[in-house]
Amino acid sequence: MSGERQPGVAPQSQVYTWEPSNAAIAARCGLRAQDILRFDTNTVPLPPAMLPEALRGPFEPSVNEYPDSSYAEVTAAAAAYYGVEPHELIIGAGADEVLDLIAKTCLPMGTAAMVPIPTYAMYGVLTGQRAARIVAVPRLGPGDGYALDVPAVVAKLPDVHLVWLCSPNNPTGAADSSSDLEAVISAAADLPNAPLVAVDEAYFEFGAKTLIGWRTRYRNLVVVRTVSKAFALAGARVGFGVADRSVIERLERVRPPGSVSTISAHVAALALRDPAYALANVAALSAEREWLAAGLASRGWTPAPSTTNFLLVLIGDPDAAERAADGLLHAGIVPRTFGPANPLRGHLRLTVRSRSENDRLLEVVERVSR
Ligand code: PMP
Repeated sequence: MSGERQPGVAPQSQVYTWEPSNAAIAARCGLRAQDILRFDTNTVPLPPAMLPEALRGPFEPSVNEYPDSSYAEVTAAAAAYYGVEPHELIIGAGADEVLDLIAKTCLPMGTAAMVPIPTYAMYGVLTGQRAARIVAVPRLGPGDGYALDVPAVVAKLPDVHLVWLCSPNNPTGAADSSSDLEAVISAAADLPNAPLVAVDEAYFEFGAKTLIGWRTRYRNLVVVRTVSKAFALAGARVGFGVADRSVIERLERVRPPGSVSTISAHVAALALRDPAYALANVAALSAEREWLAAGLASRGWTPAPSTTNFLLVLIGDPDAAERAADGLLHAGIVPRTFGPANPLRGHLRLTVRSRSENDRLLEVVERVSR
């Protein structure tokens, strides 16, 4: 994938960067990072008094200073967990910001992005924000596990600059087969416009295969990951893009220097360095998902197979789904609903929570499904 063939950020656009981090200066100048004083950042020298000790440090820099813009600590932890080099990663404030960086890079005004639907709504939102066109390609139906319509997707590739894929797909719940994904990515790679294919693996840990290993074979691929789901850190807002270095360098041109807080970066680093806890939690939640699916099915609702921590549940006709959603809401249970124009009207999406919380859900389902 050569730079000239790619649409995106104008080469003359300026990148806003900060002076190097303490660690980088220490390495360059033979100093100790803790001896370096920041006279460049217009920050205040003491951490705010109201913060509990745990949030003032022991991470570097402490919260009164700006974060290390290269996010070296969390990037190293993520690189080790994903099995890649740090330069094959970009950080964002959640996967959502990584998706935004991809949209900014690939979709100058007037271009187009493909969105197989139904899928995560942000792809359409971000495409619209760039004043780019959405080329929507319906996925196959429930009988085919909402699989990609590969011939239809491939036929539209010459028209687009970016393809948004989500595997496992939110909100349908299943992962795409490796052969379908490869058919799309390789067909895109062979085209003169070489559209970038973004594969959002936010729910990877719940039972899918990752495409990270394909990043060098397909230099038109970027895989998006997050600590919001398996690592239970949605409030921290940390996500990553994983790709060949050439793609990462293009995305870095539009990354704000400090959108992830020092505290979030440190917490994510701790979690990624020791994934055993998260992965055990994922295994338990995956088992819980199957228990919940059986419980819903025995009450007349129909969950689709899922390799995520949620279930897409067919309730019935759109009115039945609306009544069910209302009944749940009045019992203090919030389902994800799909509006009348959505192809998934008649369904609700339900997150798999703890056993006691799922029990409470099933009790209410028992009442509202009668
Ligand atoms: N991608 C998908 C498919 C999602 O479902 C979500 C969150 N619902 C995100 C990305 C956003 O993740 P993050 O919290 O890391 O921004």
